[in-house]
Amino acid sequence: MLASAGGATLALLHPTPARSQGQGAGAVFPQPSQVPGGVARLSLGPAAERPGALVGDLPVLVVGDPIEWTALVGIPLSAAPGEAFVEVREARRAATSTSTSTSTSTSVSTRRLRYVISPKRYSEQQLKVPPGKVDLAPADLARYERERTHLAKVTAAYSEPYPERLEMEVPVPGRRSSSFGLRRVFNGQSRNPHSGMDIAAATGTPVVAPLAGTVIDVGDYFFNGGTVWLDHGRGLLTMYCHLSAMDVRSGDRLRAGERLGAVGATGRVTGPHLHWSVSLNRAMVDPALFLAS
Ligand SMILES: [Zn+2]
Repeated sequence: MLASAGGATLALLHPTPARSQGQGAGAVFPQPSQVPGGVARLSLGPAAERPGALVGDLPVLVVGDPIEWTALVGIPLSAAPGEAFVEVREARRAATSTSTSTSTSTSVSTRRLRYVISPKRYSEQQLKVPPGKVDLAPADLARYERERTHLAKVTAAYSEPYPERLEMEVPVPGRRSSSFGLRRVFNGQSRNPHSGMDIAAATGTPVVAPLAGTVIDVGDYFFNGGTVWLDHGRGLLTMYCHLSAMDVRSGDRLRAGERLGAVGATGRVTGPHLHWSVSLNRAMVDPALFLAS
């Protein structure tokens, strides 16, 4: 069964960097981090064919080879610490021989794989601003609601091809804040935690794709400003916000390192920077887990 999977196919579907790039055991991407906003790396063991895995009803990225498959589960910032499960589906082929013929049948076995999400206390930022800056004006609120509906569709994008690799390049050089997960409280009201990495850079600095991907959304949004989304395959998406220029259109395919736009200060920001988010199985996870340094 193993041979029938085909060497070429396996080589293509082989994005586990630890082995395929000949790096040490410490250099796996994404780095494991079983906390809200992190990525769990769950060993699924050997199997002739790549198992499927689901978290809730969402497909999970499974990488590796018949010797060792690994499920990479994005954990939402809102996840409760404690035990969690992925559903693993493995195809088993059985050959049945009669006196005249041999037929193969495929059965699917399903098991629940338990893992534990550790608590992580992200820091909190208390901000006092004039009341009008917290509550949106009716027109802004209506715009935001429309955009939220649209963005929910974008974040649900899913394409079949596997990411070519999982180590990412930084989309723009510059000082990286460690503010992923920061809990922001405006005048005592909790807002969504910061779900990306901010990189300080001057307006006009080129922003490049950190990994090959397809452009799935280009727009100008109330909070996020000029925004580009890339689909890297199998539920791995990235988002770039506050851009001053967007040089791509939906459907464009980008190679790693190819320019998609330029840093700006569009949307609700206080100064030019890139906001970069990484989404895995619809969970916003810490982009730093995908970077080498
Ligand atoms: Zn940000």
